[in-house]
Amino acid sequence: TPLIGVLAVQGDVREHLAALAASGARTTTVRRPEEVAAVDGLVIPGGESTTMDKLVRAFGLQGPLRERIAAGMPVYGSCAGMIMLADRIADARPDQETLGGIDITVRRNAFGRQVDSFEEDLHIRELGGQPVRAVFIRAPWVEEAAESVQVLARVEHGPAAGRIVAARQGDLLVTSFHPEVTGDHRVHQLFVDIVRHHTATQDQREHS
Ligand code: GLN
Repeated sequence: TPLIGVLAVQGDVREHLAALAASGARTTTVRRPEEVAAVDGLVIPGGESTTMDKLVRAFGLQGPLRERIAAGMPVYGSCAGMIMLADRIADARPDQETLGGIDITVRRNAFGRQVDSFEEDLHIRELGGQPVRAVFIRAPWVEEAAESVQVLARVEHGPAAGRIVAARQGDLLVTSFHPEVTGDHRVHQLFVDIVRHHTATQDQREHS
C-alpha cells in the first residue's frame, strides 16, 4: 500500500487525508524536509498559493520538493496546489515562486472576482461514465499547456467554456477544482493508482 503525503503547511489538508484513506492509501502529513523523503507520492491541497509558497520556502521544503518532483515523484495538486505545480503563472507577482514540474501556465483567480465559487458537472473520460461534480473556489485555470500535457477536462458551460481545468503530465496531476469536498473519490483513486503504478515499476527496476 503506497504512503501518500499531504503537504501540510497551509490549506485543506484534512479533507485530502480522508479522501486518500478512502481510496486505499496510507497517509501522512508533510511539513519537514525529512518527511518529503519518506512518501511515495504527494498531494498539494487547495488554499492560498502565495502563502503556501512563502511557508514552503520558510520551512526549507522548496529544494527537497523540487528535487523529488524532478526525480519523478507523483504529485497531485488541487487549486492552489495546481498553481504550486505549474511551471509558470500568468501575470505572476514578482515575489511568487512555484515548485514547478508540469509544463503549464496557470492564471490565478481566473474566473473573476465576482464569481467567488461555482460548481459544474464535468465529463472526464479517464474517470469513467459518470460526470464529476467540480467545485471551484477562487480557482485558477490552465491558460496554456505544452503538447506533452494531457488535457483531462475543460469547462463546459458559460463564459469560461473551453478553459482547461484538469490535466496530467506523466505522474503529475492537477485540477482547478476541489474533489476532496464532494465525497466522490475518483480523482484521488486515479492518483493512488498513479502512485501504485509508479512504485511498482520502480521496484521492478531496482530488482532487475
Ligand atoms: N486563489 C487561490 C490562490 O491563488 C487558490 C484558491 C484555492 O485553492 N481554493 O492561491
